[in-house]
Amino acid sequence: MKERAHSLPSFSVWLNKGFHLRTHAGQMSDARTDPEISPSSVFLALFHGFVFRLPSLQQLDHELAHSHLQRWIGAERAFRDDTLRYSLCGFDLHPLEALLVDVNRRLKRGKAFDAGRVQGHLVAALDGIEVLSSFSRRCESCLERRVTLLDPAGRKIVQTQYYHRAVGCQMVHSPVKPFLAIEWLQPGEGEDTAALRLLTRLPALYGSRFFDILLLDALYAQTPVLKLVRKNGWDAVISLKQNSRDLYQSALRLFATRPPDTSFTEQCEHKTYRVQLWDTQGLPFTIDNPQPVRVVRSEEVLDRQRYRQGELTAHSTDHEWLWVTTLPQQAFPTSVIRQLGHSRWKNENNGWMDLTKHWAFKHGFLHACRHRPTRTNASNERKPVSNHGLAAVILILLIAFALTWAFVLRHSKLARRDRLTAIAVAAQLHAWVSKTPPSIRAPD
Ligand SMILES: [Zn+2]
Repeated sequence: MKERAHSLPSFSVWLNKGFHLRTHAGQMSDARTDPEISPSSVFLALFHGFVFRLPSLQQLDHELAHSHLQRWIGAERAFRDDTLRYSLCGFDLHPLEALLVDVNRRLKRGKAFDAGRVQGHLVAALDGIEVLSSFSRRCESCLERRVTLLDPAGRKIVQTQYYHRAVGCQMVHSPVKPFLAIEWLQPGEGEDTAALRLLTRLPALYGSRFFDILLLDALYAQTPVLKLVRKNGWDAVISLKQNSRDLYQSALRLFATRPPDTSFTEQCEHKTYRVQLWDTQGLPFTIDNPQPVRVVRSEEVLDRQRYRQGELTAHSTDHEWLWVTTLPQQAFPTSVIRQLGHSRWKNENNGWMDLTKHWAFKHGFLHACRHRPTRTNASNERKPVSNHGLAAVILILLIAFALTWAFVLRHSKLARRDRLTAIAVAAQLHAWVSKTPPSIRAPD
């Protein structure tokens, strides 16, 4: 008989055979002394919480008390979300990052990144994202900003808002789009500083040729970023906006004097794009760094049919984009630079948007946890360990994200046969844990 739904045992066989998940779980550690519930069980509890798409630690708490999840993750007894919090606040981030790196390496070896290559090349993107914000709860590593709000009487008031922001590097060309690494902004520093730290760390984690092309927002059109990209042996496509004034102006001046190099029309569902492209090499990047770069400009008219007062009318809008790139014209024609430059992956179902919409990414899971394990410092005082809670939770989320999407898109025959969404697969795995008799043991 054909299987009707996914079960946790078959998902686990795939995780353990393909990615050695239980072996990795055994490497986890935290700051507690002789804990009754092991860091491995804490990791597996939260990992499954994300796989099942549970919305909060309270929901996971409920699962641990009322389903077979407790047995499945190797815990001797049920435990509450306060144990999860206390453990995760002092969690060691290294084994988590090592697991994420190992998952991505295995995905690459398993040819998960072969589909969708651009001229045979692998493409990653760097992006910043806000993880949570609050007007009341704060921790020692919160970023701060002043925000203008309206009070109930409609008067403007200024309040301090606390938030966390990170820069992530994600594979984007292939159907499976895992994150390679994430770097948190420290209080007082800009996103570009965190991005440089991430780009410096990536080759140490993965080797420099894990991907070939890096896509970057206009914020990163800076000499230090370009230098680091070159040093690591990557190519880049960077959005160009008015903040890179000299290069932007000289490109516009040059392109204004000549007809487009390429023109074509592109049909995308009920939208029609009329595209004109200009392409030049040898413009100086900045006055201080006159290294010649290639610039591509796209002028696009988007034609749409819209209903206005019951009548179908044509509606057109103009759009302009510029990109600076290190990719050579011969191997990467102008239209390919446009394709790379357009951030289409952002709207797809397993990018940042998916994380924020469907993966409880914005939940404050462990923000500002005051109850933490203590350690004796050099002056012989007992002090709480520094809080890694949020970073640990997000790493576990990214591990679950990578593995779940790889399972749905590359492994599951049921997902293909029954056209299941990732959320439906999550629901099937979750249902298995709730309805299975307690005699079934987790694999050793
Ligand atoms: Zn904080």
